[in-house]
Amino acid sequence: MRLSLSWADIQYAVLALLAGLLLGLISGYWALSIGAVLFFHILRLLSKLARIREWLVEGVIAEATPNIPGSAGDIVKAVVAVKRASDRQRKRLEELLNRFDAATDAMPDAMLIIDRQHRVEWSNPAAKLLLGIDPLQDVGQPVGNIVRDPLIAHYLQAADYTEPLEFSSPGSVERDLMLKIIPYSQQRHLFYVQDHKDILRLERVRKAFVTNASHEMRTPLTVIIGYLESLTSEDSMPARVRHGVDGALDQSLRLKNLLEDLLALSKLESTLSSQSVVEAVDMVVLLEETKALVEASPHYCGQPLTLRCETEVKLVGNITELQSVIRNVVDNAVKYTESETAINIVWKQLSDGSTKLSVQDHGEGIAARHLPHITERFYRVDKGRSRDTGGTGLGLSIVKHVIERHSGKLQISSEIGVGTYVEMIFPQEQCE
Ligand code: ADP
Repeated sequence: MRLSLSWADIQYAVLALLAGLLLGLISGYWALSIGAVLFFHILRLLSKLARIREWLVEGVIAEATPNIPGSAGDIVKAVVAVKRASDRQRKRLEELLNRFDAATDAMPDAMLIIDRQHRVEWSNPAAKLLLGIDPLQDVGQPVGNIVRDPLIAHYLQAADYTEPLEFSSPGSVERDLMLKIIPYSQQRHLFYVQDHKDILRLERVRKAFVTNASHEMRTPLTVIIGYLESLTSEDSMPARVRHGVDGALDQSLRLKNLLEDLLALSKLESTLSSQSVVEAVDMVVLLEETKALVEASPHYCGQPLTLRCETEVKLVGNITELQSVIRNVVDNAVKYTESETAINIVWKQLSDGSTKLSVQDHGEGIAARHLPHITERFYRVDKGRSRDTGGTGLGLSIVKHVIERHSGKLQISSEIGVGTYVEMIFPQEQCE
């Protein structure tokens, strides 16, 4: 054990001893004299300790710091230094907290800290505006009890936060709010809700523009096509002019297809699935009809096209939308394959009650790097090839939209030189 006494302590101890010896010399009672002096010395030390304790209990007030010499005084100085350092630290933390509070107060997005049981621990003022969560009263409440939306309840229960969730604010028919959940520790998650009204407004303007422009162009284009078609029936036309007229007609028909696809896409985007007419669609009949239409189309070049219907289950949905899906997928199989390669269409029910429609071709295939993009608007693997076959680059985009509106899943797998397999799975609730 290291004993480090201060010089003042040694001085006081030596003085006490000398005083005891002197008293002993005068009185002749050595033990009593030394004992009495030591007793007073210990009493003095205890009173110093009592002052320090009192000062500590009162909260280490700087102005009331006891002026004590020796080791006890050193302890007081050390405590004062620690207190000053912790005061500085607390001030810095307070400033940081104030800045954080000001920033979260100014945020237009709702922010909540929730625990593992989804109970609110903290929320900012925007959470009150967007979700009606009171920053004081709702602490400790499960967030699902305050924001009563089945979509959120399901999202929290599934606990898969890779994709954000779009949901509606109270009184809105659009999904104008977007929720992101960011787990940042074992115990806590950040519940972050952004208002999407402005983006949706812009989207609406964009969609309205595309729809109006397409509508406006459709009528003059129909007139142009009519003139060009009547011109092509003129026998007396010189070959050079005929070539030009045929080219103009081709391009006009291509433009017409593009406008039709654009209008179909805007219609899908602007009407809610709940607004479209639904019925129990006899898929066997629809598939047979669509197969016949494809076989009669100009780009069909005789591929063996087989249709196998293993179930008679009907699909609840919009017949026109479903027909456009089948038409687009089978058309693609025909457009991107050689004449002798087989194309197989299968409609069947799976063991879990869901149904699957698949179209398999043995054509050129699609490289893996293109697959994540081919359902994007205007995405074409080979622009020239798509143009030659009359493609618009909107077909699979329409397909994806319609499948989603029917609560289904679209999966496309493909290999260069082997072929493409497109499958669409519809949940049991969608089947009848
Ligand atoms: P497009 O009108 O150009 O066919 P789609 O949206 O239907 O547009 O398809 C997007 C792109 O995906 C096509 O341009 C084509 O390159 C590719 N694609 C689609 N289906 C097939 C298929 N069955 N085989 C090969 N490529 C395909």
